[in-house]
Amino acid sequence: MAVALITGSSRGIGAAIALRLAQDGFDIALNDLNESMFEDNDIVDKIKETGVKCETFCADVSDYAQCEEMVNAVKEKLGGFDVLVNNAGITKDGLMARMSEEQYDVVINVNQKSVFNMMKLAGKIMMKQRSGKIVNLASVAGLYGNPGQVNYSASKAAIIGMTKTVAKELGSRNVNVNAVAPGFIKTPMTDKLTEEQRNAMLQMIAMKRYGLPEEIAGVVSFLVSDDASYVTGQVIEISGGLSM
Ligand code: NAD
Repeated sequence: MAVALITGSSRGIGAAIALRLAQDGFDIALNDLNESMFEDNDIVDKIKETGVKCETFCADVSDYAQCEEMVNAVKEKLGGFDVLVNNAGITKDGLMARMSEEQYDVVINVNQKSVFNMMKLAGKIMMKQRSGKIVNLASVAGLYGNPGQVNYSASKAAIIGMTKTVAKELGSRNVNVNAVAPGFIKTPMTDKLTEEQRNAMLQMIAMKRYGLPEEIAGVVSFLVSDDASYVTGQVIEISGGLSM
């Protein structure tokens, strides 16, 4: 059975991707910061109900050593490493004039450096086995910018550049590397936005509704499937037509 690791997957978009890939038949490695995050959600039970194997791995993905330990543990416990979904991410919003250095650095480390850590480690395994799929979670903020998110949009724009670079580096070894760029998706991350911010966003969306985590999971499912075997280095926007 092929094995998929999804970072930051105790809840939100990561949990929806994990469940969808379980339904597709992958054994699932869930990751988040600590065990209590899995206890607060029922994602492990939901995945096990599909009949595949599921293990949880606690690690801060901004820390290379913790990522290395996790990747080794996934291989040992689940017997392989075929799909990596870099989903873990945070926001620390504020206008640039008022943003602290700490606020900037932590978002870059969690959102962007984590993708380097995990792609480097997974890439090594995938190059050797001559197969693998990597999907990175970018954002429309990385494509178009968003006031109040200079840190977040920098990290997400970087992920797009990294996706294309690593797709070029690993393509000849049969490793596909793509990104998805969600718009406004209903999760604990966006629950933090004010009513005013949400309404402003809604005006700009052609489909006049927010997206669901399952609508991101469906596209990730396609990108890691054989149907997408000749798709690499691409960024698929999933935003209900936020921009055209
Ligand atoms: P969320 O906050 O609901 O979930 C993110 C998960 O990542 C949490 O479980 C969190 O604990 C985990 N995480 C945070 N830091 C971590 C770390 N250092 N190590 C391991 N895990 C960590 O967010 P979400 O809305 O589900 O977002 C998932 C991804 O999708 C993020 O990369 C986000 O930037 C991206 N995204 C979300 C939206 C949206 O509208 N919700 C839009 C565009 C992009």
